Amino acid sequence: MHRKVIAPSVLAASLLLVIPASAAGSAAGAPGIGDPYYPASGNGGYDVSHYDLRLKYQPKTDLLEGTATLLATARTDLSRFNLDFGLKVSEVRVNGAKAKFAASGVHELEVTPARPLPRNTQATVVVKYAGKPSEFKVDGWSAWQRTPDGGVAAQEPEAAAWWFPGNDHPLDKATFDVSVSVPDGTQAISNGVLQSQTSRLGWTRYHWRSNRPQATYLATLAVGRFDITTDRTANGLPVLNAYSKDLGDNAGAARASVERTAEIAEWLEGVFGPYPFNALGGYVPNVPSGFALETQTRPFYSPRQFANGANTSVVVHELAHQWYGDSVSVAGWRDIWINEGFARYSQWLWSEKEGEGTAQELAEWTYAVRPAEDPFWQVKPGDPGPDNQFHAAVYDRGAIALQALRNEIGDEAFFRILKRWPTERAHGNANVSDFVRYAEQASGKPLAALFDTWLYTPGKPAFGTPSAAATKDGRAPQAAPAAERAEPKSWKKITATNGVHDTGHGHKH
Ligand SMILES: [Zn+2]
Repeated sequence: MHRKVIAPSVLAASLLLVIPASAAGSAAGAPGIGDPYYPASGNGGYDVSHYDLRLKYQPKTDLLEGTATLLATARTDLSRFNLDFGLKVSEVRVNGAKAKFAASGVHELEVTPARPLPRNTQATVVVKYAGKPSEFKVDGWSAWQRTPDGGVAAQEPEAAAWWFPGNDHPLDKATFDVSVSVPDGTQAISNGVLQSQTSRLGWTRYHWRSNRPQATYLATLAVGRFDITTDRTANGLPVLNAYSKDLGDNAGAARASVERTAEIAEWLEGVFGPYPFNALGGYVPNVPSGFALETQTRPFYSPRQFANGANTSVVVHELAHQWYGDSVSVAGWRDIWINEGFARYSQWLWSEKEGEGTAQELAEWTYAVRPAEDPFWQVKPGDPGPDNQFHAAVYDRGAIALQALRNEIGDEAFFRILKRWPTERAHGNANVSDFVRYAEQASGKPLAALFDTWLYTPGKPAFGTPSAAATKDGRAPQAAPAAERAEPKSWKKITATNGVHDTGHGHKH
């Protein structure tokens, strides 16, 4: 849930003129939450605290039928509000009474309750629907990946509208119960803990619970035929991994990577503090895509991530997001560095720990392989623009920024910040500037210029000479000349993960 009260847009305010007299004083909620990168994402006027999704999916026809029950709180007096949704709706009820509804925009469902919702009151919204997710397209594109044995919802920045109605923006997080009925012999995978599994008349129902605030794009659903492994961590958290039975030659490498989830999460706890959620795992469906995504508690991995053998680096990346991205989420999509700079840097730390190249060596190499005239250096990781939200610069220049910070403030302060930030901000949202302020306070150093250089200034900055104060013996290490530098051993495995967010997703709205 977000704490910001979103001001109704000018458009919403103008609608005051046409609402009936009985609703005087209340207004329509805005059709977007106010994110300049994606004006249609999310909605204004209310917060959702819980989603209860009761679904049925038939892989043969791609038909998804469901009832979504949302627990919401009005943040203004609402005569009408929007949900983000693309499937066909048959009925909407608000606090038990039938509501009027109409589709509009690219994925808006406008709901007019029988009575306006007073500010700060709770409402129960029930939406009944049915449709084929693969047939809902935005600019010709579908977030739903259909597979030979089912389908998968895992996308960023938007995927929810293909399978449930909601307030689809990371600012409005909620808990989730996802219950899905699928034909016997098929499994339904989602976030959190598998609470129950029951079979009746040829259908099996899987009930999943994610009991910590979760952004809508981090909610996932995968239906298919999976091999499932389960375990418990040393701390007693349930681990559940799922592998499509149809991974072919990638099956071994996928398992050899994702089965190390608990081990990698344990190491990450040493770096980032206590694991923030109730379950762990990962899943690898038989999708043709190449990306991976940090879906909460249970990241999604495309089989192609393992085409060249096991790759623990991608598992490190997606698990690091559980702290940086999932627990502490972007306040707006321009803050994507809060997610990706840190997830990439965690891959460098894993390499350092494995003796395959230190973060400093990886930063120097990453810096050296991009000549100054490379357009890479023109992208600002702190505000890349929607077209470049998942540009390599957000990851690589974003991670060099963290190495520059480490060199500036020293290991003790740096690792204290890496661990305390996700603990203090757990289950919330943050801007890039929040992190800059936090790092300044925690280190006692002015850092605005450093972050301005690395996150907000186009061009290739100087790098490679930590300040003398930051080195223990006062001897500043110099970056080796390119000819003498060796490619870090982990380099190829890390670059093999560069497609993690290459979602083939060109639509913008
Ligand atoms: Zn990532």
